[in-house]
Amino acid sequence: MGKVSPDELVHGDHIYSYRRLYSYSHHGIYVGEGEVIHCTKTYESRPSFNLKGSCTCGFDPNKDHGVVKTCLQCFLSGQKLRRVEYGVSSKRLLLKRAGTCSTENSNEAKTVLDRAEKLLREIPLANTIWSLTTVKALLGIA
Ligand SMILES: [Zn+2]
Repeated sequence: MGKVSPDELVHGDHIYSYRRLYSYSHHGIYVGEGEVIHCTKTYESRPSFNLKGSCTCGFDPNKDHGVVKTCLQCFLSGQKLRRVEYGVSSKRLLLKRAGTCSTENSNEAKTVLDRAEKLLREIPLANTIWSLTTVKALLGIA
């Protein structure tokens, strides 16, 4: 797990950032085109999103809760972008130093994206912030 630059992201990446002085982490799936599917909770809206009113991506932290698709900036809310590295998720692993990646295997990006889009449509996880465990389940890692 480590910091990553937005231009290094590929769709299907499991990304996260820390909130409230590292008290918890906010997880999501990068879906390409600068957009992220993630889950927000009512009470965290004000403090954890640096937004007044709605964003140009359409996200309004005062109205939109549950599973949402927003721009990367809304997802990060001023925090550093980090990515969870999975075993065979990409050939970029070859470029990473040993020890910086998980040995777990992620599902194919398309499967992950299909699941994320499904969650976005059905919103079964409304009012539940996606945890590392939630996203791992989404990625098919038990
Ligand atoms: Zn936005």
